[in-house]
Amino acid sequence: MSVQPERERVSEAGCWCCGGTFPEAELVRLGNHPEVGVCLRCARWLRRRAVQRFDERHPSPAARVRGAVQGVRAAVIRKGWHRRGALGAVLRWIDRHLP
Ligand SMILES: [Zn+2]
Repeated sequence: MSVQPERERVSEAGCWCCGGTFPEAELVRLGNHPEVGVCLRCARWLRRRAVQRFDERHPSPAARVRGAVQGVRAAVIRKGWHRRGALGAVLRWIDRHLP
């Protein structure tokens, strides 16, 4: 009789936003509702939506700059430039560093 080595268990859970399955380390939990987990990509998307909503309610010069940047970002995505080879790689890198 042989003994099977115990496999390391990696718990995975679903993202409440996109429905994908992710390891626990790639989920962000809500403070008062820890049962709710959001994947890192969706958390980033939610942050952008939150900043956009905040800027709409609190106009400022910085909010206008962020709005202009988001307008350019939306145009790039609409034209599909973010999927074009080297140009797309540069645009995606810039996107990761946008406010
Ligand atoms: Zn997600």
